[in-house]
Amino acid sequence: MHVKPSAKEQEYFARQEVARRRKSAMKQYAALLLERREQARALHLMKCPKCGMSLEEISIGEVHIDKCFSCEGVWLDKGELDIIREKEPGFMGRILSVFE
Ligand SMILES: [Zn+2]
Repeated sequence: MHVKPSAKEQEYFARQEVARRRKSAMKQYAALLLERREQARALHLMKCPKCGMSLEEISIGEVHIDKCFSCEGVWLDKGELDIIREKEPGFMGRILSVFE
């Protein structure tokens, strides 16, 4: 036998539906942010932050330098400044002289 839900039950089900759709919208938003971040990463990976041209990696021993041959900028990854700092005095100058 089918019993028609009461007004209170209808309200309850409607509230549940609203909560479900809100949760679904938040999930979609989170997925969109993730997608945008991936797109930004793909767009900017190995691109010069100053001029936007491609960076090229040049290795000098264990130091890997990202070099822009368009604006002549030089970029170091995390930790590479520490590697250079631990080297003997003058090491930085010798590295930069490679690009003269
Ligand atoms: Zn550049």
